[in-house]
Amino acid sequence: MAEVTAYIAIGANLGEAQRSVQQAMQALGQLPLTRLLACSSLYRTAPIASDPLQPQPATGPDYINAVAAIATGLTAPDLLLHLQALELAAGRERPYPDAPRTLDLDILLYGSAQINTAHLVIPHPRMAQRAFVLVPLAEMAPSLVSAAQLAAVADQTIEKLLPATP
Ligand code: ADP
Ligand code: MG
Repeated sequence: MAEVTAYIAIGANLGEAQRSVQQAMQALGQLPLTRLLACSSLYRTAPIASDPLQPQPATGPDYINAVAAIATGLTAPDLLLHLQALELAAGRERPYPDAPRTLDLDILLYGSAQINTAHLVIPHPRMAQRAFVLVPLAEMAPSLVSAAQLAAVADQTIEKLLPATP
């Protein structure tokens, strides 16, 4: 089966968030038909609402974020199912939108695929609005993020914590 390079955004802001993100990186490399290619540094960011029109800012502890690159033979829907299983295994609940979470795994890019179904949209529709995605992605794959995209999120606070240690 052909392998595809996919980029996964990893985020956590409950419990031992840093540990959760590092464990998620390792777990990605252990998915079936999948190899971990590279990991970004870990970053600390303030929580933001996923819907910019939402009146209330997202609340909760700061997030730890990172991006991982994988080579995978899984289809994109199968990859999403595996990511959701990892989220559940990390104790994730979804009580309300933007609730603090022990682990969030989003597919940013899956090769050059464009997917638009009820359960899966790729490229991830909100990636361009989020410094916590663009900054680690640019660190790993500079050609995938333009200077204009980075400038558009330059007002968002993001602090590099640690170089990658998967
Ligand atoms: P968010 O990540 O936006 O904070 P969730 O993690 O709760 O919210 O995801 C909500 C839904 O988003 C999931 O049930 C999933 O079906 C859908 N989804 C659509 N596109 C993607 C994608 N590219 N990666 C991950 N989930 C996605
Ligand atoms: Mg998600």
